[in-house]
Amino acid sequence: MAQSMPAPAPARTQRAGTQRIGILAVQGDVREHARAILEIGAEPVEVRLPRDLVGLDALILPGGESTAMRNLIDRHGLRNPIVALAKGGAPLYGTCAGMILLADRIAGGDEPVLRLLDVTVQRNAYGRQLDSFEADIPIPALGDEPMHGVFIRAPVVSDVGPGVEVLARDADGRPVAVRQGRVLATAFHPELTPDRRLHRLLLELIGS
Ligand code: GLN
Repeated sequence: MAQSMPAPAPARTQRAGTQRIGILAVQGDVREHARAILEIGAEPVEVRLPRDLVGLDALILPGGESTAMRNLIDRHGLRNPIVALAKGGAPLYGTCAGMILLADRIAGGDEPVLRLLDVTVQRNAYGRQLDSFEADIPIPALGDEPMHGVFIRAPVVSDVGPGVEVLARDADGRPVAVRQGRVLATAFHPELTPDRRLHRLLLELIGS
């Protein structure tokens, strides 16, 4: 016997169980991260104001210009609420400028922003010839296939604390993907390639 059709769900209702991944959307490559999050079956949420952080399962700090992002974070009062979200257990993932925002130390005197990752970063330190480059990066924790790393005026990680796991290094042995508990960061931009393993890792860290 035919069942009566269920009433259609309101268009903007959140699907039950779908993880909501915030993307700091004050500046930078927000759309590329949003596409990556959709591709792995989660819901991207653009974050501009503290109220946008409510109920998020994880947060991405995109690539862009860390100075501009730092200014907007402070203008919109996002610094303490982001730190609180992380302390509450939500995983964070910073790519490139996002890694600079997470770092405990920035070489050259810039004041750190979020201090959620025990590393020292040097902005734009790959040097002029290597301003932007691409390289295959082996990441054993993500399987045998290396990741294609796109580096754009990337920071060099010059020091990592004892609680930081180095997931990948560049050809000179410098860390380019790191993890400290539920905080993940890469000097390169997986959102600019089709490989979704790092975005999936972020999802796996939720509730871990
Ligand atoms: N050079 C930028 C900075 O220092 C980062 C570049 C990027 O995110 N691709 O903030």
